[in-house]
Amino acid sequence: MGTSKQEELVFLGTGAAWGLPELNCPCAICRDMRAKGERRRRTALLLRGEFSLLIDCGPDILTQLEESRTQRIDAVLVTHEHGDHYIGLDELFVFKRIMPRDAFQAIPTYMTDQTWRIIKQRFGYLETMGVIKVHPVCPGCWFTCGPYRILPFDTDHGDFARGSVGYLINWRGPKPFSLVYTSDFMGIPEIHSDLRNPDYLVIQSFWLNEPLQNRPHHMSFQNAIGFIEKFSPRNETFIVHMGDADKVPNDPANNMLKKYDPRDPMRPPGASEPYPVPLNHSQWQKVVSKIMSDRGLPYLVRVPYDGLAVPL
Ligand SMILES: [Zn+2]
Ligand SMILES: [Zn+2]
Repeated sequence: MGTSKQEELVFLGTGAAWGLPELNCPCAICRDMRAKGERRRRTALLLRGEFSLLIDCGPDILTQLEESRTQRIDAVLVTHEHGDHYIGLDELFVFKRIMPRDAFQAIPTYMTDQTWRIIKQRFGYLETMGVIKVHPVCPGCWFTCGPYRILPFDTDHGDFARGSVGYLINWRGPKPFSLVYTSDFMGIPEIHSDLRNPDYLVIQSFWLNEPLQNRPHHMSFQNAIGFIEKFSPRNETFIVHMGDADKVPNDPANNMLKKYDPRDPMRPPGASEPYPVPLNHSQWQKVVSKIMSDRGLPYLVRVPYDGLAVPL
């Protein structure tokens, strides 16, 4: 495997399960994003160098691959059984269709047995027809995928996604790096020492503030801070899978099912008013940087936008 090419991490999508702005949603967040022409498609990542590793494959995948000019997928990691993370697997058929007959090699696709048991009910034919080749992974067991060494680890995403995992990805090229992707979660049973101090951490911030009721088992930025400290990434943390479920004070749309009251919203030191709920990309970046610096935390947190490519 050649190792000369610079590796980069591409944020194909950075939004939650229905993307942002959400269809027909009248809330302050979606209104502001529409006005600014901002969009967050379903969260998926691409590690790209000599090898092309797709991490999660949701319903926006064709648009995402087209916009990122992705010509090849060498392998796929799937984190869990929810539609926004796998429903695009069927679209990978396009890579087979443009090859000469019998020339295509099924795309190695990694996930836990538990996850595949669920996904197989719908997409078993993708394996039968040679579009993907599923390799079961087990949490705590390293495996090799192209130029990467990968460690899946257990994540707690509630009873409705029991086989959920995150992935630690190590690359030992000329400029080695390690990256942890936690995907959707509300807890991690055990943070193994191998997972600590990665160069990069990608973590979910579905809400800014932890809601009164954590449904449906996601991570808020408020809780993510504790995990950032535990993982203690060396270079940078990226937050993804942003939603619009935080209530924005005085927004008439707060009565929608998806809107949650905060449990104990974060406030600047000595202030009575909480930090403002971010409506758009630049407000997200501003508020998370302020929160980290107000708390004296030495971690750089970046808010990616769709299409951002970060050289590693
Ligand atoms: Zn999700
Ligand atoms: Zn999920």
